[in-house]
Amino acid sequence: MSLSAEALTKTYRIGRHAVSALDGVDLELLPGQGLGVVGPSGSGKSTLLHILIRLIEPDAGRMVLEDAEVTRGALRDFRRAVQFVPQDPASSLDPRRSVLSQVREPLLRLGVTGDHDSMVRTALNRVGLPDRLIAQRASGLSGGEAQRVAVARAIVTAPRYVLADEPTSGLDAPLRLQVLDLLSELRAQGVGVLLVSHDLSGVNRVCTYLLVMARGRIVESGDLTAVMNDPQHPVTRTLVEAVPRIRG
Ligand code: ADP
Ligand code: MG
Repeated sequence: MSLSAEALTKTYRIGRHAVSALDGVDLELLPGQGLGVVGPSGSGKSTLLHILIRLIEPDAGRMVLEDAEVTRGALRDFRRAVQFVPQDPASSLDPRRSVLSQVREPLLRLGVTGDHDSMVRTALNRVGLPDRLIAQRASGLSGGEAQRVAVARAIVTAPRYVLADEPTSGLDAPLRLQVLDLLSELRAQGVGVLLVSHDLSGVNRVCTYLLVMARGRIVESGDLTAVMNDPQHPVTRTLVEAVPRIRG
C-alpha cells in the first residue's frame, strides 16, 4: 500500500516562454510515514504537491494509489483517500459559519454516505478538540482551535494520506509547533504525511524521510537524520546550515 509517483514532469508555458517546473520526479509515500520535501523557492515543491493532489495534471508520468493507477476520470475515491492541508490552515475557515458546516463540507462534496455528524465528531476528537465546538462559529475559536478545525476538515473523510504545502507559513511560533505536532499525531495514527517546506527544522519535527528538490528535480534523498548529518548536495548543505542548532 502506498501513494506513488513516477517520472512526473511539468512545464509551464506563458506565451513563448517555457519554465520546466518538474523534470522526472519519483516518490513513494507509505501509510504512517512522514515524508519531507524541501528545497529553495522555485524548486518545484508546490507544483509537485499540486500534481499529487490532482489539482493540476502532469505533462507526463504516472501516479499509483494502493496498486491502482490514478486516472483523470475516477477522482472521487482518490480525493477521499488523499487530502490536502493548506497554508495557514485556519485562514481557510469562514468566520461566520459553524464548525460543523465547515468540517462536513468534504463529506458533502465527495458524496460520502453515512452519519456526517458522527464523522465530524470523530475528526474533531482526532485533532484533540471536544465535541461541544461543533455548533460554534469559527469566529469564536482561538487561533490554535481554528488550526485544529481546519486540519479536522482535511481528515473527516478518513484519508490515508495527507499532503501539506508550507502549512505553518505565516504562523507565530506556538501555532506553528501545534500544526506540526498535529501532523505528527496523524502520522502516529497511521496516516501517510507529506510535508512540503523550505524549513528543514519544521520538517524534522514530523518526518523521518527527506527529499531535497532543486530546479524541478530530486537532488538528494534518504533518512532525514542521515541527510542532515552528512548532506551531499550544495542545496542540501545550505538548507542544513539554516537550521538553528543548540550546541552544548
Ligand atoms: P516552490 O513551491 O518550490 O517555490 P513552484 O512549484 O511554485 O516552486 O515553482 C516552480 C517553478 O515553476 C518556478 O520557476 C515558478 O516560477 C514556476 N511556476 C509555478 N507556477 C507557475 C504557473 N502557474 N505559471 C507559470 N510558472 C509557474
Ligand atoms: Mg511553493
